[in-house]
Amino acid sequence: MQTKRIAIFGSTGSIGTQALDVIAANADKFSVAVLTAQNNAELLIKQALQFNPKLVVIGDEKKYHTIKEALVNTTIGVASGEAALEEAAAADYYDMMLAAIVGYAGLKPTLKAIDNGKAIALANKETLVVAGDIVMKKALEKRVPVIPVDSEHSAIFQCLVGEGRNKIEKIILTASGGPFLGRKPNFLVNVKRDHALQHPNWSMGAKISIDSSTLMNKGLEMIEAKWLFNLQAEQVQVVIHPQSIIHSMVQFEDGSMKAQMGLPDMKLPIQYAMAFPQRLPNDFKRYDFKKPNTLSFEEPDFKTFRNLSLAIDALHKGGNLPCVMNAANEIAVFAFLRNRIGFLDMTELIERTMAKIPFIEKPTLKDYFESDGEARNFAASIIQM
Ligand code: NDP
Repeated sequence: MQTKRIAIFGSTGSIGTQALDVIAANADKFSVAVLTAQNNAELLIKQALQFNPKLVVIGDEKKYHTIKEALVNTTIGVASGEAALEEAAAADYYDMMLAAIVGYAGLKPTLKAIDNGKAIALANKETLVVAGDIVMKKALEKRVPVIPVDSEHSAIFQCLVGEGRNKIEKIILTASGGPFLGRKPNFLVNVKRDHALQHPNWSMGAKISIDSSTLMNKGLEMIEAKWLFNLQAEQVQVVIHPQSIIHSMVQFEDGSMKAQMGLPDMKLPIQYAMAFPQRLPNDFKRYDFKKPNTLSFEEPDFKTFRNLSLAIDALHKGGNLPCVMNAANEIAVFAFLRNRIGFLDMTELIERTMAKIPFIEKPTLKDYFESDGEARNFAASIIQM
């Protein structure tokens, strides 16, 4: 049987490395065609030697020679730079892109892969936050499946299998609440990066860990869900569920609800997206009903975690506002991770940027690129003040 050839964009990250574990465990089903990283040449070389892809791409051009030298006795191609990422996405020697780059940087390669008619396993939620209308329209035109990897969206996707045209009343995304569930602004004002990086249930990359601690992650996911499942903003809701066992729920027009459950382990949605429509056996840990674990639910604290309110505002207003919010958030998170601004300053930075950048109701792709640039410049200028 032929293997499905996977191009992992962002292979050195949390999602990328877990995807490679899934591939290693299912070598008869998957092979690796492309691996990419931004800086981590050492890990990229190690992965290349283990998985023997056709091509590796490193974003940082200064690392090109190190990688080329390390792979000199192999047939693996080496390329570097941002343009090389898009060229790799346009290649014909892979079947599915796992979009696991973090942030806005994932948008262009993903668009290129869709143009190229390749199936997408989508971890990079920012792609849909920034330009969800354009990305999903292109995917429809090209008949390219976009299969979610984000656990909440994978849950919804799994709940929808077999439902055909049955109407969705609403979807309910679950949120763990992050490390600061129940905390108030007088506590959050003093929070430092290392504390914010400690997620109670999931081990993830730095950016999404900070986004989870501010609840911006859930806001990004609401926007991602709207585009993925073609919903109205009002149909997307959030509930806090600290145990992260129910990964999300769909309520249909007859009032019936479906939920997808399991222990929090990203390998499961990664494997599901890569193998869809098949389910593959694995040895991932199972939920044990004999160990008492109360599943609880509560309303998010929108007043304290104002990033979520900002994202809901962006979800409802649409246009270029989610793109602007995403850009400001990336700058804010980057600055917080470098101890340049405080935890609550992130919200202020995003709010001011959203108020400043001119609203465009029906943006073109070029408008999105420009709004992203303007928002980044403005947010960065506030930090430098
Ligand atoms: P990581 O930070 O762990 O990894 C990011 C990957 O992208 C790395 O391979 C990194 O390379 C590469 N990268 C970083 N910046 C750039 C850039 N400018 N251009 C090209 N490549 C770049 O992130 P995660 O794996 O945690 O997350 C990836 C995406 O998946 C995010 O969009 C996140 O929201 C989403 N996601 C993640 C989940 C998780 O559990 N981690 C869960 C659900 C969604 P290098 O290592 O060299 O820096």
